Amino acid sequence: MKNLPFEPFKIKAVEKIPVLTKERRIQAISDARYNPFRLKAREVTIDLLTDSGTGAMSDRQWSALLSGDESYAGSESFFRFEETVKKITGKKYLVPTHQGRSAEHLFFSALMKPGDLIPNNAHFDTTQANIESAGGRALNLPCAESRDLSSEDPFKGNIDPTALDKVLSDPANHVPVVLMTVTNNTGGGQPVSMANLRSVRALCDKYETPLYFDSARYAENCYFIKTREPGYADKSLIEIANEMFSLCNGALMSAKKDGFVNIGGWFATDDEKLFGRVRELMVVVEGFVTYGGLAGRDMDAMAVGLMEALDVSYMRQRVEQVGRLHAKLKKGGVPMINPSGGHAVYLDANAILPHMPVEHFRGWSLTNELYVRGGIRGVEIGSVMFMKQDPETGKITYPEKDLVRLAIPRRVYTDRHMDFVAETVIDLCGDATQIRGYKMTYAPKHLKHFIAEFEPVD
Ligand SMILES: *Cc1c(COP(=O)(O)O)cnc(C)c1O
Repeated sequence: MKNLPFEPFKIKAVEKIPVLTKERRIQAISDARYNPFRLKAREVTIDLLTDSGTGAMSDRQWSALLSGDESYAGSESFFRFEETVKKITGKKYLVPTHQGRSAEHLFFSALMKPGDLIPNNAHFDTTQANIESAGGRALNLPCAESRDLSSEDPFKGNIDPTALDKVLSDPANHVPVVLMTVTNNTGGGQPVSMANLRSVRALCDKYETPLYFDSARYAENCYFIKTREPGYADKSLIEIANEMFSLCNGALMSAKKDGFVNIGGWFATDDEKLFGRVRELMVVVEGFVTYGGLAGRDMDAMAVGLMEALDVSYMRQRVEQVGRLHAKLKKGGVPMINPSGGHAVYLDANAILPHMPVEHFRGWSLTNELYVRGGIRGVEIGSVMFMKQDPETGKITYPEKDLVRLAIPRRVYTDRHMDFVAETVIDLCGDATQIRGYKMTYAPKHLKHFIAEFEPVD
C-alpha cells in the first residue's frame, strides 16, 4: 500500500476532551471578557488556537526522553541532536535554543544594526518584533498571487523576486540578510517553491547578501514541493530538504512545529564568524552552547521528531487532514484562503460577515461565535491583531484581510473531530447575519490581541 487510506499510526495514550453545555460556554467567554486567549484550556472542546508545541509526541520520542544526557556541557543528547540537524540541513555550526524566537533574538542581535532592512516573503509576528526591537525594519514582499484569496496558485508563499531585486539594488538600503519563511505562516500556511528559492539565491549571490530560512514548517514545505512542483514526485522528503537547505547560508527553526516537540528550537549556519558571535550572546541569555535553554532529554525528543516529520506517510496524513477540512468547508460554501495550506485553514471573515461594520471586528466576532456554538477555539488574524492608530489624529486603520485561522495540532485530532469543526463552521456561516459584533473596552499598547477585553455591541 503506497498511499495509506488511514492514519499511519495507532493511539497509545488518550486524553479526555472537555465538553461544556452551551450555557457554560456563554458564561466562560463572558468571564474571559470575550477574548478566547483568556479562556481556560478546560473550557475548550477542540483547540485550534495554534499548531505550536501542541502536537502529540510518538512512543519513540517518549522513549528518547529517558536516554537524555543531562550533563551541563558536551552532553550526548546534544551530539545526537547536532547529527540530525546536520543530516537535514548540511550546515556546519549549530546551537539549540528554547524556542524559535530566542533563535531569532540571537541571530538578529549578532547580525543586525539599527536602520537595517530585512526582507522576507512574510515575517512571522515574533520575527518582526525581534527585528524592530533591535532597531531594524521588517519588510514583507509576498508574490502578487497571494493577494487574491481565491486564486488556486500552488505556491502562494513565494516572494516577489522583482520586488526583492529592487530592494537589494537600491544603495540606500542596508540589507544584512534576506529571510525566507517556509511555509509562509503569515500568508496562510502557503508553500514556497524550489524555483522561487533558487531565484532568491541567485539574487543574493548577485548582491552578495546571505540568505537564511525561517524553517518552522520546512517538512510541510518539502511535501508541497514533492506533490505540487514538477520534477520532485519521486524524490524523498529528506532529499528535497537537503536540496532546499543547500540554497541558504543558514536557518532558524521553532521545533514546536515540524520538530514535533512541545518546546525547542535551533539556529544553524555555515558562517563561522557569525556563529562565534551567536555563541558569545548565547551563554549570556540562553545557557551553555550545548543545551541552549533545554534539558538534554528535550534535544533527544527533538532529534527523533525532526526525522519523523520527514516520513512521507506521516506528512501525507498531516497535509491531507488539513486538505479534507478545507474541501468540506469549500463544498459548504465557506469563504477561505485557497488553496489548502500546510497547517491550518483560514476563514475569510470579511466575506462571511459583510453586513457587520469593520469596527465591530468581524474576525474576532466569528471566533467567539465558533466557541459558543461548538467549543472550538480558533484565532483571529485580522482587525484586532493588526489595527493601527495614528498617534496624532487618533484615526484607526484596519488591515485589508480579516481572517480566522483554525490551526491543526499534529497527530492530535481525528477526521471525526474535523468533521464536527466543518459542520459547525458551515452552520454558522448559514446564519451569519445573526452574529453580533464587539467593541474593545481595554487594549494594551503592544500585541493587544493577547489580553484585550471586549463587550458585545447591541
Ligand atoms: C512559531 C514561529 C516562530 C517563533 O517560534 P516560537 O517557537 O513560537 O518562539 C517563528 N517563525 C515562524 C514561521 C513560526 O511559525
